[in-house]
Amino acid sequence: MRTPAGFECAFFYGDYYRGRSREECRLIGNQPPPNQWKPNLCKSCPVPGILRANACPHMTLQARVESSFLGLVRRVKVSAYCSLSQSVVNEPHVGCGMCHPLPPEFDLKRP
Ligand code: SF4
Repeated sequence: MRTPAGFECAFFYGDYYRGRSREECRLIGNQPPPNQWKPNLCKSCPVPGILRANACPHMTLQARVESSFLGLVRRVKVSAYCSLSQSVVNEPHVGCGMCHPLPPEFDLKRP
């Protein structure tokens, strides 16, 4: 579904039927304040970009809202886990590299 920021996101849900205006992020869920989800967080959220770049079915995303600067700046922080390699994915846009290893030309460890 399209977020208020205009990106497609598999985790966004909006119910506007018959005048309703219910929106929720089904990845972050219903967190207590001050880390609760608000629609304006979608604007800078990295999840739509990650889903466009990496459609790996083994990768699971987790997200939470982080506050900084006395709660004035709130952002979505994303972490990823691969159930195939059973490891944390450091770069979710790319993946863990187990399914799609880079060609040897890109291996920086080779002499
Ligand atoms: S906060 Fe991120 S994951 Fe949640 S609905 Fe918005 S774009 Fe999607």
